[in-house]
Amino acid sequence: MSIIQTAHRAAFDVEAVRSQFPILHQDVNGYPLVYLDNAASVQKPAAVIDAIAHYYRHDHANVHRGAHALATRATDAFEGARAKVAAFLGGVAREEIIWTRGTTESINLVANSWGRANLRAGDEIVLTEMEHHANIVPWQMVAAMTGARIRVVPVTDAGELDMDAFRNLLGERTRLVAVTQVSNALGTINPVAEIVRLAHAAGALALIDGAQAVSHFVMDVRTLGADFYVFSGHKLFGPTGIGVLYARRELLDAMPPWQGGGQMIEKVAFAGTTYTEVPWKFEAGTPNIAGVVGMGAALEWLGTLDRNAAQAHEDALYARLDAALAAMPGVRRIGTAPARVSVASFLVEGAHPTDVGHLLDQQGIAVRAGHHCTMPLMARLGIPGTVRASVAFYNTAAEIDRFVAALEKVKTFI
Ligand code: PMP
Repeated sequence: MSIIQTAHRAAFDVEAVRSQFPILHQDVNGYPLVYLDNAASVQKPAAVIDAIAHYYRHDHANVHRGAHALATRATDAFEGARAKVAAFLGGVAREEIIWTRGTTESINLVANSWGRANLRAGDEIVLTEMEHHANIVPWQMVAAMTGARIRVVPVTDAGELDMDAFRNLLGERTRLVAVTQVSNALGTINPVAEIVRLAHAAGALALIDGAQAVSHFVMDVRTLGADFYVFSGHKLFGPTGIGVLYARRELLDAMPPWQGGGQMIEKVAFAGTTYTEVPWKFEAGTPNIAGVVGMGAALEWLGTLDRNAAQAHEDALYARLDAALAAMPGVRRIGTAPARVSVASFLVEGAHPTDVGHLLDQQGIAVRAGHHCTMPLMARLGIPGTVRASVAFYNTAAEIDRFVAALEKVKTFI
């Protein structure tokens, strides 16, 4: 795993990239849209939108069961995209890739399948204070069913994991460590390779939530050593409603299915049903075929970019944004870990984050305001929420400057 960035600062033609995103070219509330809500969901290039439309116009049929041309085309596209994800994650086996609705469903699958089969009373699941609710609530639900306990790694004031506390929490009862690679609320990049190593040394498995990481890192899950790696398509220029669970083959083979139905069986009889092999064992029912096609198109499109140059451009924008916020009186940045991706969380003195968000929206600027589905983290930091501006490589320096000017104007209303 390596962050895509720096060393090489090849020219990045942001206008050429932006021109491929139709949605970015519109006015909102009388101003050209400045979209800085990329940590929530990134926009889609025409290549992805067109691939989905093309699929429905020409190739749609149900997958895996038809004996006709369209079914073959749909199945080829569906399984071809699985192979693309396997390559994207560093060359894992395609059987290790399970299609889900997103990060949330991937974690629920692991909790309900692996968790219910393996967790016993007194076993421990280690989470952190900075997890998204998607990596907390499924574990609370499975803990309630099994009697397992949740232990929580604290976060420092700067927004980093307290690694000494993490080491101390690990023990012979630890069965699973589930940690986000990048904090969606603060942008903190966690030392996941070290976390996986320590989890394994304690005899536990490691699940890494890659939702916020996949658009910033070149992933190699084998080198990382993660047992489970999860992400959502919509944060990687793909459509909503599609996501990925990567898990090691031996784990998947041993895990019981979670949902039952068509596609996941070998033979069904009232006397007893047998299940098919991975990955289909975990893909009951007609899947989100168009979503998978869009995900495949997104990965192909990403492959046409110089991702180093794109990341360098994004890093430069973030540095500009962060410096402006740091210099602005009455603004308090939340999350100042040295290792961060392009997420700027902050508070404006005397204003509720939601009000700041609305006032920015009135100037055509889209940010997120609230708890970012990280209520325990907000409680730890003693704040109700933050305003979050998150940058993608299709943003421009002029947009960052517009955001800064708009925020200055917001401050005059408060
Ligand atoms: N984990 C993290 C770190 C996230 O940022 C998100 C989305 N905000 C999720 C999990 C949940 O992803 P989804 O809603 O796409 O399932």
